[in-house]
Formats: sequence, structure tokens, C-alpha cells
Amino acid sequence: MDLQLTHKKALVTGSTAGIGYAIAKLLAAEGAAVILNGRKQEDVAEVVAKIRQETGNDEVSGVAADFSKKEEVERLIAQVPEVDILINNVGIYEQVAFEDISDEEWFTLFEVNVMSGVRLARHYFPKMLHKNEGRIIFISSESGLNIPTEMVHYGMSKTAQLSVSRGLARLTKGTKVTVNAVLPGPTWSRANENALQAQAQQSGKSLDEVEQAFFEERRPTSLLQRFASAEEVAAMVAYVASPLSSATNGAALRVDGGIVNSII
Ligand code: NAD
Repeated sequence: MDLQLTHKKALVTGSTAGIGYAIAKLLAAEGAAVILNGRKQEDVAEVVAKIRQETGNDEVSGVAADFSKKEEVERLIAQVPEVDILINNVGIYEQVAFEDISDEEWFTLFEVNVMSGVRLARHYFPKMLHKNEGRIIFISSESGLNIPTEMVHYGMSKTAQLSVSRGLARLTKGTKVTVNAVLPGPTWSRANENALQAQAQQSGKSLDEVEQAFFEERRPTSLLQRFASAEEVAAMVAYVASPLSSATNGAALRVDGGIVNSII
């Protein structure tokens, strides 16, 4: 299937690793002019070179910006004034007991996970409406619906993204612009790997045993009963970013391995 993404300009935030990296690579493989982002210039440059080499796409570039710093986001916007596709992927998460989450941590998660997408959309969305063309995709999470007890602040931020996404979609009425949210379930990433490895070391269990216990005890409703790969999530995102998805708007699309125990 041709996703018709050739030369479309796509900004993917937080894309030097994990789900963002897989999305950026797939869009580049489909011919899009992808702009990568991470916090450190040297990491961004390294991943730009890697994706260029792996996909043969020379239109891949990158901008370093830390989404916990408003002025760096403004600098990114100045460097990338217009895009056809905005993927609000950047997001941070850490397991913390509710009583131990400080005010600062609540605000940091809101700043990085929610305001990142708000600030970028505030700039790019009116331009998309003006051109009558564009795609905005928020990478939310099943945690926005199944609020995890071990990171309530993260659940809050992922629900907030759904609200912003749906609100913006309503503002596209009658245009060819779409705004959707994609909700991954547990997905294999550096952060998850680090957390599971630490648990394996503490308990003396193997990584496989810790993964199995995670699904049995913490995510029993998962139908997949394993972590998805970042590539499995990226496939959905690339389709939604493409012109082929023109009748999908204002949706919360689950790539959650069936973890959310409801039909809609
Ligand atoms: P990850 O930790 O593997 O990758 C994070 C990427 O974001 C890296 O490129 C990192 O450099 C960048 N980054 C982190 N903080 C940044 C900041 N302040 N400014 C700029 N870049 C920053 O993350 P992931 O697991 O791939 O998650 C990506 C998105 O998917 C997040 O929004 C997350 O909430 C969501 N998600 C992840 C999972 C999962 O299980 N991995 C499940 C559901 C949703």
C-alpha cells in the first residue's frame, strides 16, 4: 500500500528513541521529509544519520529541543515554521507512589506531556486550517483510560491529551485537516526495559518472568500479554498520518493489545 507520504513534512517530537524513533523511521521509509527531535544535539545528529542511511531518505533532519523548557520549544518552532504532519510523541513517565509525587513532578509531567503538544498545535494548527490540509496526532496511552495506580500523574497527562485532541478535531469541522490520538498499550522501550531490569535484579527473577508477572498482576486485561514493539505502534501512526485516513477524525485509536476492557 502506498501511504502517499512522499515529501510530506513531518515533525516527530521525542524521536531519538522508542516509539518516536520507530514512527520517524517508518515515515522516512515512506518518503516523508521527517524532522527528528530529542534533547541533545549530538543524539539528534546521530539518529538523523542512522535513519538517512537505513532508509536512503536524505530529507531527514533534526532539531534539538527540551520540551520541559518553553524557550527551547519556541526556538524549535522558529526553526521549523511549517509542517504537514505533527506527531506529538514526546512523553515521560516514572512509577511513583501517589503520596510521593511532588508539586514539581505534577507540573513537569503536565509541561512535557501536555503543553508540548498544546504549544506546537497552537502554532501549526491554524496554518493547517489555512492550507486546508494537515494531520496532528497525539501519542496518548491506554493509561489515559486505565489510570495506573503506580503513576496517577502520568494517567492525568494522557487523559488531558485526549481532551486536547478531541477539542482540536472539533475545530476542523468541514476542513481536510484531521486531529487524532493514538493510544499505545505497554510498548517495549528504553524506560520500560530499565524498569523491568531493575525489578529483575531486585527479585532475582529473569526478565521474562518479570514481564509475565507485570501482565498477570498489573495489566491482567491485556489480550496480547506481552509488550508491543514500537514498530507495531508506528504502523498505526503512519496510516493515520497519511492522506488515506481522511475519514478518521477526532478518534482515540487504540494500539493497546486489547488492554482496555471496553468495546468503544
Ligand atoms: P522513550 O523514553 O523510549 O523515548 C523518549 C524519547 O523522547 C527519546 O527520544 C528522548 O530523548 C525524548 N525525550 C524525553 N524527554 C524529552 C524532553 N523533555 N524533550 C525532548 N525530548 C525528550 O519513550 P516511549 O516509551 O517511546 O514513549 C513515547 C510516547 O509514547 C510517550 O508519549 C509515552 O507516554 C507514550 N506511550 C508509551 C508507552 C510505552 O509503554 N512505552 C505506552 C503508551 C504510551
